[in-house]
Amino acid sequence: MPIRSVNPVTGDVIASYRAADEGEIERALAAAERGAGDWRWRSFDERARPMRDVARLLRASKVDHARAMALEMGKPVAQGEAEVEKCAWVCEHYAEHAEALLKDAPRATDASRCFVAFEPLGVVLAVMPWNFPFWQVFRAAAPALMAGNAMLLKHASNVPASALAIAKLMRDAGFPNGVFQTLLVGAEAVPRLIDDARIAAVTLTGSEAAGASVASAAGRAIKKCVLELGGSDPFIVLEDADVAKAACVATDARLLNSGQSCIAAKRFIVVDAVHDAFMSRFTLEMNARRVGDPLARETAVGPQARRDLRDELHAQVTRSVARGARVVCGGEVPAGPGAFYPATILAAVEPGMSAFDEETFGPVAAVVRARDESHAIALANASRFGLGASIWTADRARGERIARQIEAGCVFVNGLVKSDPRLAFGGIKRSGFGRELDEIGIREFTNIKSIWIA
Ligand code: NAP
Repeated sequence: MPIRSVNPVTGDVIASYRAADEGEIERALAAAERGAGDWRWRSFDERARPMRDVARLLRASKVDHARAMALEMGKPVAQGEAEVEKCAWVCEHYAEHAEALLKDAPRATDASRCFVAFEPLGVVLAVMPWNFPFWQVFRAAAPALMAGNAMLLKHASNVPASALAIAKLMRDAGFPNGVFQTLLVGAEAVPRLIDDARIAAVTLTGSEAAGASVASAAGRAIKKCVLELGGSDPFIVLEDADVAKAACVATDARLLNSGQSCIAAKRFIVVDAVHDAFMSRFTLEMNARRVGDPLARETAVGPQARRDLRDELHAQVTRSVARGARVVCGGEVPAGPGAFYPATILAAVEPGMSAFDEETFGPVAAVVRARDESHAIALANASRFGLGASIWTADRARGERIARQIEAGCVFVNGLVKSDPRLAFGGIKRSGFGRELDEIGIREFTNIKSIWIA
């Protein structure tokens, strides 16, 4: 894929970039190795200083970055600003808590002194997606850098402006040379980077296909990898739920980031008793959200990030309809040069249809009718993915009981599934393995070293 920014509203090329050549890749790897060699011995206070500065710079420049994301991948500006704010939060969170999260953990053994230490691994390669061009990077970088690692970023080929802006922010914040770098390369360069002895580990956020390729390369090189992949999150509405509230949050859960979120709710599993009431309220809400120019502050849903992805999404809708799903709203490709797709609801979705079995990465909601609670749980788990899930019920204890039966990395009862620096984030099944955020996330790229002294 060429490395370029294309405006998804107009189809115009904003900027094209040359991929790094062999010499540039070599220099980046050498700088990363040197950077990591020094950074690992810096104190937590020394690491926290540029981390806090980058948070300050992010906040000060959020309007500019949100505008750049709107132009480069169509994210509505208000959501872009919130994304940049969240990046500042994760930087401050780890600047403040990394030392406590990584402090030596004493163990009672036969030794006179025994403890577990959490030491940096070295250079972490971060292969990142375009959907949250800032958040995905900072979510990985803040804990990895605070743990004493260096990071080499290979961002998605359609968000090079964001990739370069992040590298500049890190430089301006005072991270030493080589501690954080952006390398503009295509996906084909990734296996060779993973294989390089100077790369210690790799983290990928992206599709299943990319996950399989990165995990294979990491397996061949025997290197640690974390995979944050796709999802088809269930949103279960039970008969005792507040249907109006559920329908409103369902709409946000499906349409946030124009539907292009791994933890967007995708399959709305609604029990018979409230199916029709939910459907009519959900339809009203979905139709009420404004689709349009991502630079306009009132826009809720922008274009899809690329036209090819929009066309793929529409093909999933068409295939589902051919197998018996019914279009309640949306479902048609609008005329014009942009990559727009309307807020769409498919009713009567069942296993065996694309909208149920695959990840729909756009504003398409699949509504699935369930007979009762146990049928709803079975449908929720009848997916190859296991990232997030939400459950709607007036009974918290019932919600908790069901949450324990759901195959997913996180379950929210009566709430929107979201990532949070204080909560471990990641999936099971084909949604990947390993965790980001929280204490577990910062320990992923450490050598968990037991020290035993007689
Ligand atoms: P993608 O096509 O897999 O790309 C992600 C990154 O992987 C890009 O940098 C891409 O580079 C690279 N890549 C693609 N194929 C590769 C290969 N065979 N070997 C090595 N690297 C490869 O995914 P996307 O379209 O950018 O992002 C959407 C996907 O990411 C969705 O499935 C979504 O659910 C998932 N996602 C998951 C999470 C999570 O936390 N679980 C969060 C956000 C998104 P190029 O751009 O150069 O091809």
